Amino acid sequence: MRKAGRHFLQIPGPSAVPDRILSAIGQQTIDHRGPDFARVGLKALEGLKTIFKTEQHVFIYPASGTGAWEAALVNTLSPGDRVLMFETGHFSTLWKKLAEKLGLQAEFIQGDWRGGADPEQIKAVCVVHNETSTGSVSPIAEVRKAIDRAGHPALFMVDTISGLASLEYKHDEWGVDVTVSGSQKGLMLPPGLSFNAASAKAVAANKKAGLQRSYWDWEEMIGPNKTGYFPYTPATNLLYGLNEAVDMLHEEGLDNVFARHARHGQAARAAVRKWGLEVLCNKQGQESGVLTAVKLPDGHSADAFRASTLQHYDISLGNGLSKVADKVFRIGHLGDFNDLMLVATLAGVEMGLKQANVPHEAGGVQAAMKLLT
Ligand code: PLP
Repeated sequence: MRKAGRHFLQIPGPSAVPDRILSAIGQQTIDHRGPDFARVGLKALEGLKTIFKTEQHVFIYPASGTGAWEAALVNTLSPGDRVLMFETGHFSTLWKKLAEKLGLQAEFIQGDWRGGADPEQIKAVCVVHNETSTGSVSPIAEVRKAIDRAGHPALFMVDTISGLASLEYKHDEWGVDVTVSGSQKGLMLPPGLSFNAASAKAVAANKKAGLQRSYWDWEEMIGPNKTGYFPYTPATNLLYGLNEAVDMLHEEGLDNVFARHARHGQAARAAVRKWGLEVLCNKQGQESGVLTAVKLPDGHSADAFRASTLQHYDISLGNGLSKVADKVFRIGHLGDFNDLMLVATLAGVEMGLKQANVPHEAGGVQAAMKLLT
């Protein structure tokens, strides 16, 4: 049956794609080896550097974020290498599994899925910056300092698949060796592009890294990228969209984008508190501006609640993943998102709580509005 009005896609990525980006993607596909492509490719590669805040290397893959995870590891490590990872949630668990499948020895520092990485415990690292399954942000600059304090030479790899272009991120200044990201979250694009930003140290490690690689090999990319080309068919139309997205982010100003998401995170948490529900992230200062994961009271199914809000109010909320499946739902407030969209989203949640008979106190939307006005 046709549903009137716009669907609210409030999962924590993919985020809704703005019309400007959809129009850019809708342009005719061109010859990726022809003279006009160089301008598109160079703009994408240079533009992306301004988002990662790096003057070193970036690599663009026609792949989802998982591909960029794999690229980060196979380009820099050798079979049997030990990798230390921090259990921030579902996505750090998946990255660890991927490392093990590649023949790396991955060790986990256990976490409680309710906060970010604890820098004190870490000697050498793969860390998820914004853990999309929990809504917790790890302090990347602090983790770098902990590695430096230990004088450990290990490469520092960070997944900011859901953090980039929503939360402050400084690849060079924070001393990250490989940053992994994707197109479908803060960059406001459809899924289908993923990225590595790599330090000179990481690119040097590529020369000695013993893991097998072909498609993901940075070495193959570096030559053609210098003139704006790729070693294989790039996702031309998504690159048009990427260029539009980078322009849009700079038109607004990156700091303004980050402040917008931080404010929306604060307002969403104010609503949750008013409802008398619990935000999953319980480490103050580590709550995400990208999404808010909300715990349902014991005995209430978060999946049944989400199904009911979708049916009644045409809003998609994020589900709880693995350890927190059916226990939490996630409100995405990332990408091209404004105050009224947040208020409408929170209204959808509040009406959904009532509809699904989840015990709560009314007035969450008002609490959020108070913070926004
Ligand atoms: N890492 C994080 C933090 C994510 O949020 C996701 C996807 O949501 C991934 C990795 C995996 O990326 P993809 O599903 O694009 O392969």
